[in-house]
Amino acid sequence: GSFESLGLNNRLLANLRRLGYSFPTPVQRKSIPPLLRGKDAIIMARTGSGKTAAFLLPTLNKLYQDVGGNDTKLVSGIRCIVVSPTRELATQTLAFFKKYAKGLNLKACLLVGGEPFESQFAALATNPDALIATPGRLLQILDQITYLRLHSVETIVFDEADRLFEGNLGKDTRQLVELFLESPSSGVSHTCQKILVSATLPQVLADFAQLNMQDPALIRL
Ligand code: AMP
Repeated sequence: GSFESLGLNNRLLANLRRLGYSFPTPVQRKSIPPLLRGKDAIIMARTGSGKTAAFLLPTLNKLYQDVGGNDTKLVSGIRCIVVSPTRELATQTLAFFKKYAKGLNLKACLLVGGEPFESQFAALATNPDALIATPGRLLQILDQITYLRLHSVETIVFDEADRLFEGNLGKDTRQLVELFLESPSSGVSHTCQKILVSATLPQVLADFAQLNMQDPALIRL
């Protein structure tokens, strides 16, 4: 199995070569094809497995197709949201986004706590394609920028979902889920692709999947 055989576009493949990624990891091999087909998925994987590329590569492939494959964007607006349990993970995911998306004319905006709101509002005003966010800050921002349009969102990723849905963070995450997936006024289409990435599958995730996902592919190693 090679990255070439998985259906990713040539620019992404060139970036992977440049990064020295010779072969997809097992979780990437299993995740990329169904995600490219637009399927919802539960990816059971932990840090170190290559899970970030497993969800980012197919997502970037889709975003790039939408922009028309050149420098003139045919589509604009927020089309992907990655929800992360910690600032550190969100920051790391943004760094991978930039590496994988080099030359693709795609922009991500980091929305995490502990940073001033002003710079995040300014970043949002530059028309990003993707948001990479922690739940608390994302809720605060959605509360303040009520005109933020989410009708173009095509993909929502819940990374390290077992952590996202537990304890205090769980309250914020559930509120986000309600907003995104259960309240039509948010503008998020109920047909958008949902991806859960998690090391474990506790009952709350099984319940989430049952309620909010459409025939998800279950990817486990
Ligand atoms: P993750 O599990 O997403 O935290 O990724 C773990 C590490 O593996 C990161 O440092 C990636 O740069 C690296 N990595 C991910 N996929 C590949 C691959 N196919 N080949 C080589 N390194 C990879």
